[in-house]
Amino acid sequence: MESLKIIAEEIAECKKCPLYKQANHGVPGEGPSNARIFFIGQAPGANEDETGRPFIGRSGKYLTKMIESIGLSREKVFITSTVKHFPPKNRAPTEQEVHACRPYLLRQLKIIKPEIVVLLGKTAECIRPYLEAKHVMATVHPSAAMRFAKMAERMKKDFETLKKLL
Ligand code: URA
Repeated sequence: MESLKIIAEEIAECKKCPLYKQANHGVPGEGPSNARIFFIGQAPGANEDETGRPFIGRSGKYLTKMIESIGLSREKVFITSTVKHFPPKNRAPTEQEVHACRPYLLRQLKIIKPEIVVLLGKTAECIRPYLEAKHVMATVHPSAAMRFAKMAERMKKDFETLKKLL
């Protein structure tokens, strides 16, 4: 039977695009299968590649703080990225890589059936046409919010809107 565990095992062995060649770990994402909120970032970074866990580096800490700022806990939401292997030098994933990885994201969404999907940054926008959630919210990627005050302001506002949906 389909499960988050099966998807994670397939990601660990995935060779559907070249990213696996230089990566140490697949990073499937984490969170409960009944999560109401599903966050989608861009791609794992170096810290995530080392550990196999999503959003645990600097931008992950920022995201976690934002999640907690609206009274949620990281353990209650699902957090993943558009592609599941680290792109070398932290470059943005290509269209082909996003395309190759999309079925994993769609299968995760099909199991979790989140009420709210939050797209973190431009890369995650690619999945928007495929989403069936009641609410889809696009905000900036936490790494942009960390760098630019305007982006931080935008993310803060978007999370206030998110809080109202809870
Ligand atoms: N940025 C992402 O988009 N995903 C991660 O897991 C880490 C950083």
